Amino acid sequence: MKSESPSLKNLVELLSYSKELGLGDVVLDGLTREEIMSSNIGEDIKSTGTAIDQGIDQNSSEPLIWSEAVSEMNYKSLEETANHCQKCALCEKRNQVVFSDGHVDARLMIVGEAPGAKEDEAGIPFVGQAGKFLDLLLASISLSRKNSVYICNVLKCRPPGNRNPLPDEIETCTPYLARQIALVAPEVILAVGTFAAQFLTGKKLPLGKLRGSTYSYKGVPLVVTYHPAALLRNSGWTRPTWEDFQLLRKIMD
Ligand code: URA
Repeated sequence: MKSESPSLKNLVELLSYSKELGLGDVVLDGLTREEIMSSNIGEDIKSTGTAIDQGIDQNSSEPLIWSEAVSEMNYKSLEETANHCQKCALCEKRNQVVFSDGHVDARLMIVGEAPGAKEDEAGIPFVGQAGKFLDLLLASISLSRKNSVYICNVLKCRPPGNRNPLPDEIETCTPYLARQIALVAPEVILAVGTFAAQFLTGKKLPLGKLRGSTYSYKGVPLVVTYHPAALLRNSGWTRPTWEDFQLLRKIMD
């Protein structure tokens, strides 16, 4: 904080959200959050950019929409906010928020469904069986998760018993995903599984009907394919998945 000199706008976001999220003491340069916000620095902060205090836009006194606030965050505040998120009931049972893995400057972004038990334990997406299969599929088009990919999920917290994400959980959580995509700015997105595919294409169709085409998510080419966990259960989907990965490779070449 001291050496990085964040912009005032980022600082006010961080201070305000840390308060909204009920985080304990925040100390900057020896001053508490309250001391900073009531000092000259705080006055400067308040007159710079969007003033956000407990979700209220001070200029309009309209409630600040959560997704709008998220859509302006930098990567660090976004990750920090997500890591303390209590916006839906999934926070009660999770062990860890699973925000992402890989490089923020990756060319390819992969979006899955939600963390499972292993991911919830590790805090990293796709580390279980499905993740190992995904790594193999990536290797088949000469990509490695370690070097060339950013991976995240539609939901950042594990649904109990690995049940499907609920519509209101998707609605609440996806502002994080939308902002991740904007900040990572990948050259191409791969959606794996129905929930990622439906959210990113905006089409409520079964995956078998969605796959095989290239879409655009806010101008970023988007390919959709079966979820590797589904492939492990249905080997008949291996061939179409291989074709989807070929399509992805072609777009990247
Ligand atoms: N399945 C997903 O969709 N995401 C994970 O992170 C793990 C399994």
